[in-house]
Amino acid sequence: MTSPRPILVTGGAGYIGSHTVLQLLEAGQRVVVVDNLCNAHEESLRRVAELSGQQPTFHQVDLLDAAALGAVIQQHRPQAAIHFAGLKAVGESSQIPIQYYHNNITGTIHLLQALAAVNCRQLVFSSSATVYGDAQEMPITEAAPLSATNAYGRTKLFIEHLLADACIADPEMKVICLRYFNPVGAHPSGRIGEDPNGIPNNLMPFITQVAVGRRPHLNIFGNDYPTPDGTGVRDYIHVVDLAAGHLAALDAMDRISGCEAINLGTGRGYSVLEVLRAMETASGRPVPYEIQGRRRGDVATSYADPSKAQQLLGWQARRELSEMCDDAWRWQQSNPLGYAGQP
Ligand code: NAD
Ligand code: UDP
Repeated sequence: MTSPRPILVTGGAGYIGSHTVLQLLEAGQRVVVVDNLCNAHEESLRRVAELSGQQPTFHQVDLLDAAALGAVIQQHRPQAAIHFAGLKAVGESSQIPIQYYHNNITGTIHLLQALAAVNCRQLVFSSSATVYGDAQEMPITEAAPLSATNAYGRTKLFIEHLLADACIADPEMKVICLRYFNPVGAHPSGRIGEDPNGIPNNLMPFITQVAVGRRPHLNIFGNDYPTPDGTGVRDYIHVVDLAAGHLAALDAMDRISGCEAINLGTGRGYSVLEVLRAMETASGRPVPYEIQGRRRGDVATSYADPSKAQQLLGWQARRELSEMCDDAWRWQQSNPLGYAGQP
C-alpha cells in the first residue's frame, strides 16, 4: 500500500502554522513544513513533535528561492498545501512595501508554480479580514466590498485575485482563502503560542506582556470611537479554533469548485477594554493603561458573519474570550521571553 501524500505547510513554524501542524499530525496526516524562520523558531516544531508524538518533516527554505522550493515539492509531492508564509506587520509594510510585495506575492507565485509541476491543485490560503478595509456593515459577510488601507492588506487582496484567476484558468484547481479575524490565545498546554519580535503590534500579546510585568502599561489607541465604551471592537478568535478551520477547509475540498473566500471569526465583537478586563481576570493581575490618540488606519468595529464557514466547512468557533485569555496567559507565564528565552 502506498502511503498517503503529505500536506505541505508553508510558514508552519509560525504562530498559526504551528497550531495547525499540531492538529494535522494529531489527525494522522503526514506534514511537510517549509519555513525560512524569518519570524519563527524551529523550537516551535520541536514542541509540536513533543505534543503530538509525531515528527513533521522540516525544510528551512525561503519561498523566494524557487529552485529550493521546487526541489522540496518534487521530493514530497504533496496532496494539498496550506500557505501561511508571509510577512504580516501592518506598520512595517508601509516602511518596506517592496519587500512585502516581493515576499508575499512572489513567494505565492513560486509556490503555485512548484505545486503545478507535481499536479497538486488544492490550496488553503491565509487571508485576512483586512481585505474588507473600513467595512460599513456589521457583521461582515464575504460579499462585502473589498479594499485595503496598507501595503500588507494589498498583498492579501492581490493574492486573492491571483488565486481566483488561477482557478478560472484551471477548472481542476481548488482554493480556499480563509479570511481570519483576530487570532489570539495559545495551545492549552502553554507549550506553543505567539512569539512576536520586539514590541508587539497586536493587542493580546501586548496585554499579556503588561500583565507579566515586561511593559509598564497598555496604550489604548482611542476611546472616542462610536462603540459602546469608545474603544475599538474586534472579533477575537482562539488560535486552536482557527487551526481547526484549516483542517475543515482541507476536508471540504471535495465539495467545492474554484476559489472560495471564507471568514473565520466567532461573529462576536469585544472592545479593547473588555479584553483588558478579561485578561485581568485570567491573570489575577492589574493591567494599567493610558488612553492615546487613534492609531492610523484602525477601524472602529470589525466582526464576522461566520455562517458561510458553518455551511461550507461545517466549522464554527467554540472557545470564549475567557479561554483565549487563560491560554494566552499560560503561554506568556511559562515562556516570558518566548521561544528564544528557553534553555
Ligand atoms: P507568523 O509570522 O508567526 O508566521 C508566518 C511564517 O512564515 C513565519 O514562520 C515566517 O518565518 C514564515 N515566512 C515568512 N516569509 C517566508 C518566506 N519567504 N519563505 C518561507 N517562510 C516564510 O504569522 P502568523 O500570525 O502565524 O500568520 C500566518 C499567516 O496568517 C500570514 O500569512 C498572515 O499574514 C496571516 N494572518 C495573520 C493574522 C494574525 O493576526 N496573526 C491575521 C490575519 C492573517
Ligand atoms: N490596540 C490598542 N493598543 C495596542 C494594540 C492594539 O489599543 O497596543 C487596539 C487597536 O486599536 C484595535 C484593537 O486593539 O482596536 C485590535 O488591534 P490589533 O492590532 O490586535 O488587531 P487589528 O488592528 O489587526 O484588528
